[in-house]
Amino acid sequence: MEFNRGDSEASRILRDIQALKDTKSGIEHKLSVLEARLQEINLQDDAVSNGSSAPSSTVDSGFGNGLTPDMIYRYSRHLLLPSFGVEGQANLLKSSILVVGAGGLGSPALLYLAACGVGRLGIVDHDLVELNNMHRQIIHTEAYIGQSKVESAAASCRSINSTIQIVEHKEALRTSNALEILSKYDIVVDATDNAPSRYMISDCCVVLGKPLVSGAALGLEGQLTVYNYNGGPCYRCLFPTPPPTSACQRCADSGVLGVVPGIIGCLQALEAIKIASKIGEPLSGRMLIFDALSARIRTVKIRGKSVQCEVCGDHATFDQEQFLEFDYEKFTQSPLSASPLKLNLLPSDSRISSKEYNERIINGEAHVLVDVRPAHHYKIVSLPKSLNIPLSTLEGRLPEVSSALKEEEELNGIVSDSTAQLYVICRRGNDSQRAVQYLHKMGFTFSKDIIGGLESWANNVDRNFPTY
Ligand SMILES: [Zn+2]
Repeated sequence: MEFNRGDSEASRILRDIQALKDTKSGIEHKLSVLEARLQEINLQDDAVSNGSSAPSSTVDSGFGNGLTPDMIYRYSRHLLLPSFGVEGQANLLKSSILVVGAGGLGSPALLYLAACGVGRLGIVDHDLVELNNMHRQIIHTEAYIGQSKVESAAASCRSINSTIQIVEHKEALRTSNALEILSKYDIVVDATDNAPSRYMISDCCVVLGKPLVSGAALGLEGQLTVYNYNGGPCYRCLFPTPPPTSACQRCADSGVLGVVPGIIGCLQALEAIKIASKIGEPLSGRMLIFDALSARIRTVKIRGKSVQCEVCGDHATFDQEQFLEFDYEKFTQSPLSASPLKLNLLPSDSRISSKEYNERIINGEAHVLVDVRPAHHYKIVSLPKSLNIPLSTLEGRLPEVSSALKEEEELNGIVSDSTAQLYVICRRGNDSQRAVQYLHKMGFTFSKDIIGGLESWANNVDRNFPTY
């Protein structure tokens, strides 16, 4: 049959595409390993011919400015800038910059830092590339989905500029390794997205005396500033106590327009380049605030270094030992890694698994399913016949729950001493527990939460159910 032939040809093509993609990513990986090795050999040779072991990419070319003919040609547009010139480029080539996080902010920051000729560029990340990163984390390609972000980012940087040294740190930054990693670089770029990492990186920069270029982007807004530079404030000077956990949103929960971290990441690269090349006025003691919807960029003065700051203030005694012992997760009440929060608020008899819920549907059990996600989440995808009552509106909409139950009871001919079941679902199973807690208080004592929410439904019941 024509249909079957078309179908099998399509699957054959899909198989071929997958096989070619696998081969391609294997080759790309081998290439990046070889390029890294070659760089190391070249740098060792340079060091030997210079009679020093300094990690400098510049060599005496005989032209008196330390730049080779290739460097002069590659960076010619920089050299033509009167305020940047040979000195700026030579400073950049001698500098080392660490970017923590190869995600939405780190992607453009790393690409520009590699392109502009930073002598040594470090990348820290422990994550793997995922399909839902691709809309903003533009350093990665589809061929690297499922592979290390650091390897992927390093391969992209090397493909842009094979003459600089790229250092891969394939690990999560923790107090146990931060001092060692950060101490190897002149400038640190914070491209992470969570409160404990921000405090940890800032404190570590204070202890080590490194300038920190800090950026943040969420939704349609972004922020940028430089900490611990030329007597300016550190992160703790501005935020001595962490914001409440509910105020700390992450892209995974709140969404972000891909280009917004792209813009902030580019600005982070710019600030790092200014510090490294010693030009202009780095954004210290000031904060840049970007509003994408109104296309407004404002720069506001922020408070200076605080004499009372526990880390950098006049009487601070915070040192490497205290840093090693500091519990940033406890301090900020939130985890260092991006793994989503998993609450456990209810007794087990008030909870059912997604598989159990599926069995109850199959058995035709009379029930109402309330989906407590925000309306714009509900529009992305939802289970059939579910009733969308966002958690924030539940209090005022209890009559709707009662009438839905009544309707279901009438439909199923249930008599007065029994009721239809009431289940509550959300994206990952946290808000559904909060909702059930409230429903219990309001007399719906039989309501139950579906453990792990729609994510569990997609993982355990319907593999084709979209996740986001
Ligand atoms: Zn401080």
